[in-house]
Amino acid sequence: MIIPVIRKMSILPNSDICETPSMSTNLRNQTDFDAIIIGAGACGLMCAVQAGFLGKRVLILEKNDRPGAKILISGGGRCNYTNLYASPQQFISGNEHFCKSAFARWTVDDTVSFFETYGIVGQEKTLGQLFPVSNKAKDVVNIFTGLCADLGHELWCDAEVAKVERVGDGFAVTYSRDNKMKVLNAPKVVVASGGLPVAKLGATDLGLRMAKQFGMWVTDTAPALVPLTITGKDQPWYEQLSGNSIFCRVWNDRASFEENILFTHWGLSGPAILQISSYWRPGEFIYIDLLPPQDILESIQSEREVNGKKTLLVYLAGLFTRKFAEALSGKLPVEKNLASLSKTDLENISKFIHEFRVKPAGDKGYDKAEVMRGGVSTDELSSKTLESKKVTGLYFGGECVDVTGWLGGYNFQWAWASGFVIAQNL
Ligand SMILES: Cc1cc2nc3c(=O)[nH]c(=O)nc-3n(C[C@H](O)[C@H](O)[C@H](O)COP(=O)(O)OP(=O)(O)OC[C@H]3O[C@@H](n4cnc5c(N)ncnc54)[C@H](O)[C@@H]3O)c2cc1C
Repeated sequence: MIIPVIRKMSILPNSDICETPSMSTNLRNQTDFDAIIIGAGACGLMCAVQAGFLGKRVLILEKNDRPGAKILISGGGRCNYTNLYASPQQFISGNEHFCKSAFARWTVDDTVSFFETYGIVGQEKTLGQLFPVSNKAKDVVNIFTGLCADLGHELWCDAEVAKVERVGDGFAVTYSRDNKMKVLNAPKVVVASGGLPVAKLGATDLGLRMAKQFGMWVTDTAPALVPLTITGKDQPWYEQLSGNSIFCRVWNDRASFEENILFTHWGLSGPAILQISSYWRPGEFIYIDLLPPQDILESIQSEREVNGKKTLLVYLAGLFTRKFAEALSGKLPVEKNLASLSKTDLENISKFIHEFRVKPAGDKGYDKAEVMRGGVSTDELSSKTLESKKVTGLYFGGECVDVTGWLGGYNFQWAWASGFVIAQNL
């Protein structure tokens, strides 16, 4: 691995995001690229840099006016760039084995040492989530743009790819820039154009469209890591609790997560809900244990022995918040004292607290989703190279592929790993 000096050059007024020095100049030789990479997101940038380390020259075409838009806003602007416990188990895919090869070749340790090499030291927050100690996502982007500059890559922003066509053994890439449609040729093309979430950050359906155009199967896509909505007669109950956060276990037939849930005026959010949303299908229930570390019946039994006159309301307010306990009136006999609770009351309390059943009306959609579930079918790609099995020289990486990670740095780990793997084959 070469360790070039990172240069920072201004790309936009008042911005310290760096840019390749050649970005504003014309190409020396327009056919001189080993590959064109579509998308300067996590996958495309890692792919470009790793290809450069191997002596390859690439052009990155990016629709936005700057690279790494999602990296910049990720983790609340702090960028949760990997997860120390990442393994193939935290990924959803039509083929659960598909990601194993990439993760064996680019590990979490590789991510950690790559960023350390270029000056980013990680700090672990909860559950293995790694963030830069600087808490600045732009430090992550600056590493890539600095390396692209030093490696002599071209990174063109405001360049939206419209289509890619097969020409001989290579490809013709049509893109718009400066209000003009232009065409460039390259022997290889890397589709790192991401998934459908958050159009205002540059998301397009290009990856899915291109796969279909080349006769490749695309699995059903849906928003994932997304808040869930409640409508109808139940909605006011959730609305009154808006802002309340509770540590819970949330589960369905496919998965279970212990983290916080957050009540909102339109439904449920918080990390446990985002996690389960990736496993939820419209029309299904999810279940919530509102008190996962304890058995409420045992707890009530102990309390009634010493303080049987305490009302259920006061007792629940001690376990949760007063607001939450009050919201349970109408659902549970909160006015009764603990000593007078009947067997049926206790069964109802236990069921309510430990198996709270919710049927979401829907989700908040791609604008509020962190990732897309589904995408270019893993059946269509070599797991070792991420090259299309049908179209030699065409590669798909990152979020446009049917590999979706949990919340907590897993999706970037997939983006880095897939970018690295593709680079080895350009
Ligand atoms: C709000 C939010 C917070 C997140 N936080 C985290 C986090 O902390 N940790 C984590 O692991 N994951 C996080 N994610 C998910 C993570 O950002 C993505 O999984 C990851 O960025 C995917 O990388 P990618 O390179 O495949 O796609 P992207 O990063 O989306 O990059 C794709 C790029 O392609 C460009 N593009 C699209 N179409 C075209 C076109 N036609 N022509 C040219 N360019 C095009 C886009 O503008 C974009 O820059 C978050 C996502 C969101 C929305």
